[in-house]
Amino acid sequence: MPVRNIVIAGNWKMHKTQVESLEFLQEFLNHINETPEDREVVLCIPFTALSAFSKNLHGSRVKLGAQNIHWEPSGAYTGEISAMMLNELGVRYVIVGHSERRQYFGETDETVNLRLRAAQDHELTPILCVGETKQQRDAGETEDIIKHQLKHDLIGVDQQNLVVAYEPIWAIGTGDTCDPQEANRVIGIIRQQLSNSNISIQYGGSVKPNNIDVIMAQPEIDGALVGGASLDPSNFGRIVNYK
Ligand code: PEP
Repeated sequence: MPVRNIVIAGNWKMHKTQVESLEFLQEFLNHINETPEDREVVLCIPFTALSAFSKNLHGSRVKLGAQNIHWEPSGAYTGEISAMMLNELGVRYVIVGHSERRQYFGETDETVNLRLRAAQDHELTPILCVGETKQQRDAGETEDIIKHQLKHDLIGVDQQNLVVAYEPIWAIGTGDTCDPQEANRVIGIIRQQLSNSNISIQYGGSVKPNNIDVIMAQPEIDGALVGGASLDPSNFGRIVNYK
């Protein structure tokens, strides 16, 4: 039976200047000297810090990630970034369909799908985010929402080069973590919707040093997408070094 990859990814959102990101890196590298080999360590940082960060990785095991990608190779798309621009900087992963982009920037399942395919066409591994709102959860719609997102987002997407993140929206940035067993249950449902059951499926939503061990102990959970706690080198170090 093939083993699923473990992927622990930080999502810095709109935080840290280039100088601040290098300060983070200098300290963070000290925390991952003994990180077990069984896990991939990814940092999805702002576009403006990618170049300097990439030059300062010094052969470390940190993989570079971005937070968005446009589907066209070039053109009149003010404010957007193409796959080739990311390739040139050594980017390996890209977050697609984060709920903040769906909520504030008009991201739809259709544009998520276009971005996923563009990433894969350029050998980037997309991290597809799916998840329900509090209202949807309270209405018992979690399963339906997730199945709908996956069905539409994954049209024509290669399931050999993909990470999925289950991110209940009500747990993002709130400190209100999803119960690990419930996250495990939903991730099991996500896995049933996929044609490749070996895809890594992360949990995201208020992951912290004090809850990562129990989250990673769940059999369906293959990693974490970490927002706030990835901004601090010692906290993120503890998370990637989960036991
Ligand atoms: C996220 O940004 O994807 C996220 C899960 O944020 P936080 O860890 O801060 O809840």
